Amino acid sequence: MSDGDRTLGAREVPLGGVRGLTVHRTLPQRGMPTVGAWCFVDHFGPTDEPMTVLPHPHTGLQTVTWPLAGEIRHRDSLGSDVVLRPGELNLMTSGDGVSHSELSVGEVSGMHGLQLWVALPEGARAGEAAFQHLPDLPVATGPGWFATVLLGELAGAVSPAKTFTPIVGAEVRAEPGYARLPLREDFEHAILAIDGPVAMDGVDVAHRELRYLAPGRSEVGVHAAAGMTLLLIGGEPFDEELVMWWNFIGRSHEDIELAREDWQRAALRFGHVDGHGGAVIPAPPLPQTRLTPRRRTPA
Ligand code: MN
Repeated sequence: MSDGDRTLGAREVPLGGVRGLTVHRTLPQRGMPTVGAWCFVDHFGPTDEPMTVLPHPHTGLQTVTWPLAGEIRHRDSLGSDVVLRPGELNLMTSGDGVSHSELSVGEVSGMHGLQLWVALPEGARAGEAAFQHLPDLPVATGPGWFATVLLGELAGAVSPAKTFTPIVGAEVRAEPGYARLPLREDFEHAILAIDGPVAMDGVDVAHRELRYLAPGRSEVGVHAAAGMTLLLIGGEPFDEELVMWWNFIGRSHEDIELAREDWQRAALRFGHVDGHGGAVIPAPPLPQTRLTPRRRTPA
């Protein structure tokens, strides 16, 4: 264990309104806004509740959607309309502005998955919006594990996903017993216990918890009694201060205020998602106080 390592618990958050799905969120946390450029980790299901997320905007980030079970139809303001299945990745880059909807498809039973955000660095956050549907991702293997590489590179396997900062993201299947996962010493990492408890370098991590691993490691040992699915995320520590509110990431209160106004007045910036008869998720009211950057605090 090294200085700065910590275990982050999940909090339950309703997604997409009152009747929405409940998700388990482990990032951001007080004192831990990012891991690399990863700034949002939501774990949903397994659940029989449908996902009904009507059109809503994003700015300053990429959304990463990775279903483990169930199918999700994604439509966005770029004209994309795809059904996402387990084993496939959706990566949407907001640039300055984009909007999308996500609805579960067909008979919903045992839907399960991850929704993650990656913060865009200053040089890319006002850029063009883009969308990638990636049905064929590379697989990496090592002692006691194999992995699908979602973003970046792991053990020589490189994802075709478009990235803007040094980063890694992978779904890792740890075999029963002991697995040794390679890490980059210049990266910080975090590992989510998706389907049950594991021990990481001797520290017990409960189901749905996220274990943060500070930079300076070349590997981590994972003990799992049964085969376990893990999410590995990491990257170069992201040193820009982020102001995050609702579906927006900016650098100041004013950035967020403008994004909110632009969404509420249906500005061209966020485009239009076809197929919903004009229905959208309205932005909540801004808080009375000024929004401020979230900062890292020592463990
Ligand atoms: Mn979204």
